[in-house]
Amino acid sequence: MSLDEERISCPLGQWAGEPGRCQLCNKLIESTRRRTWCSNKCARDWQRNHIWRFARSAAKRRSKYRCQRSGCSAERRDCEVNHINPRNGAGYGPGCHHHLNPNSRGIGGLEVLCHAHHAEVTATQAKARAAKRAEAKAKVKTKKN
Ligand SMILES: [Zn+2]
Ligand SMILES: [Zn+2]
Ligand SMILES: [Zn+2]
Repeated sequence: MSLDEERISCPLGQWAGEPGRCQLCNKLIESTRRRTWCSNKCARDWQRNHIWRFARSAAKRRSKYRCQRSGCSAERRDCEVNHINPRNGAGYGPGCHHHLNPNSRGIGGLEVLCHAHHAEVTATQAKARAAKRAEAKAKVKTKKN
């Protein structure tokens, strides 16, 4: 999906693809210096949910720089941001997968974890991927025999 298509289908915005309108709230852009958004507020709101480095700091601010696992005793600021739906190396380019909260189709959603909890999640994901690969390999083998 191109970034324009993603902006049009983004459930957080109202833009329908018409040029000259704010790509978040769909208001007519009045300033001649602006092209994409009607205001700094709309620009920031969009960035906070679609650009990784903005989304990451917004998620940390929201969690007050603490691990979100209940009962976790990690130090404040010992925090990293995790995509609830694993990116599996799919890149950190702009898009709706950086939404702070998941949408109705389950896209997006960020959680803040301490280093230890984040490493745990990453290891579980890697294990699941390895198991899938092994399963695919086994299938190929049984076909051959
Ligand atoms: Zn706007
Ligand atoms: Zn979006
Ligand atoms: Zn933790």
